[in-house]
Amino acid sequence: MLSTARHSDAVTDVVVVGAGIAGLAVAHRLTSAGIAVTVLEAGPRVGGRMATDEIDGFRLDRVGPLLTTSYAELARTPGLGGVVLRPFAPGALVHNDGRYVRIGEPFPPAPWRAGSARGVGRGASGRTSSVRTSSVRASSGRMPAHSPWGVGRVPAHSPWGVGRGSPHAPWGVGGAFTVARALASAPRNPAASLDQARLGASLARLAATPAQRLLTRPERVAREALTARLPARTVQGVLRPLVAALLADPDLTISSRWTDLALRAFARGRLCVPEGGSAALPDLMAATLPPGTVRTGVRVTEVSIDRVTTAEHGVVRCRSVVLATGARTAAALLPGLRTPAFHPVTVLHHTAPAAPAAAPVLLLESDPGGPVAHTAVMSAVDPTRAPDGRVLVTSTVLGALPDDPERRVRKHLATLYGTSTDEWELLALHHTPDAVPAMPPPHDPRRSVRLLAGLYVCGDHRDTSTVQGALVSGRRAAHALLTDLGVRAPLGTAAEVAA
Ligand SMILES: Cc1cc2nc3c(=O)[nH]c(=O)nc-3n(C[C@H](O)[C@H](O)[C@H](O)COP(=O)(O)OP(=O)(O)OC[C@H]3O[C@@H](n4cnc5c(N)ncnc54)[C@H](O)[C@@H]3O)c2cc1C
Repeated sequence: MLSTARHSDAVTDVVVVGAGIAGLAVAHRLTSAGIAVTVLEAGPRVGGRMATDEIDGFRLDRVGPLLTTSYAELARTPGLGGVVLRPFAPGALVHNDGRYVRIGEPFPPAPWRAGSARGVGRGASGRTSSVRTSSVRASSGRMPAHSPWGVGRVPAHSPWGVGRGSPHAPWGVGGAFTVARALASAPRNPAASLDQARLGASLARLAATPAQRLLTRPERVAREALTARLPARTVQGVLRPLVAALLADPDLTISSRWTDLALRAFARGRLCVPEGGSAALPDLMAATLPPGTVRTGVRVTEVSIDRVTTAEHGVVRCRSVVLATGARTAAALLPGLRTPAFHPVTVLHHTAPAAPAAAPVLLLESDPGGPVAHTAVMSAVDPTRAPDGRVLVTSTVLGALPDDPERRVRKHLATLYGTSTDEWELLALHHTPDAVPAMPPPHDPRRSVRLLAGLYVCGDHRDTSTVQGALVSGRRAAHALLTDLGVRAPLGTAAEVAA
């Protein structure tokens, strides 16, 4: 489609600018409708922020995003059928001044654990520990039949140990700490157990509340809304680190509605990462587009309704343009578009002589001073990310990069894992200043994606600042464009758009 000449006048139906997951989602939906699409990507590869580097046999995410198996858009997006999701099992442990709270472990067999996962490895527990999006589809869109959260009440066998003091729900593990010990101990602190019960009930209610109803609630800063509902120590000790991990907002300045939706997604599903690294998602999406659809190494410098100008290949004429870059580039190409504030994120990868924890669990830090916000033995969660027998620990720092980050992070990891990190080796450190668009209240998650007939914009900055939001924005942009072309295309129900 594009010539290699400096000044070409190539023609296509639609140019999509940017091959992140939003742009690729648009391209899938348009090519499925028979539209000729050219995706122009400035970088050398597809995926945008969802990038994974291969170094010495390790697969190292620049982004290290946490997904949940209840992100319905993963199952709805064409091209993602083959994605395998690796869940954290058992859920997450929140570190709070030497004590640990365990959250998010479904007790009854989840639908996808009961034999529906395919082509998967086994976690440290020996249980099958990954899930394909096809199985996610089976459990998304409605409450799974055997949800760990029940509907409207805390189930007797709640992950919070409510009702019968589950041996799987430790709180207040005294003495020397190891992750293994925390995972095996029983709760000892009655006050803490009561807090857990309240939190469990609150999450169960969220899980059972339709997304649309959550979106009609008064909107305020998440910290205020959560503290009005739950004891401040629960918010600070458990919810703040969890929301920080899900939405990269360590100070809970985010809109309460979107916090509720994120917690709802957490309560209805399971924290997970894509097998093989974040890039697995865009790579799959690009590989299943018609050959030649995506052109990498082509930077767009100007856009209008019927053409884009590129730095390398001159002008590409078209009938419509979809701008699917990040927010800052979108505003540079189309002055007038708003540029949000961003949450910076740093991801560090270490290899260690021995795994500091056998379980594929996510460790969250409740101390906002961190510097580590969350960490996991990623080679236990997803063995494909490390060479055989090697250990990969992936850790995330939220906010500005601290001085001497590696030394401080390594010291903090020694506390979190209860082991010396002197022999650990840093494999990579990636700092992304514009990682995640901030979503303070009031946050309009459905910012218009149609600027004019023929000119559309999508990406996480038009929706929610998550993988799910980027994919939904791509679906909305494709729908608006097809509607303008007179092509009937279902957008999905209001519930599907909100979820
Ligand atoms: C460190 C980090 C941690 C994150 N953690 C999470 C998490 O835990 N959970 C979660 O759900 N989400 C997380 N996110 C957010 C998630 O990665 C993004 O929401 C999502 O990847 C955005 O996709 P996008 O397609 O909207 O934008 P992008 O991925 O930014 O894609 C835009 C594309 O446009 C291209 N482009 C830009 N300018 C031009 C141009 N002039 N010409 C052509 N192409 C251009 C870029 O190269 C890029 O490929 C995280 C992000 C980061 C960086």
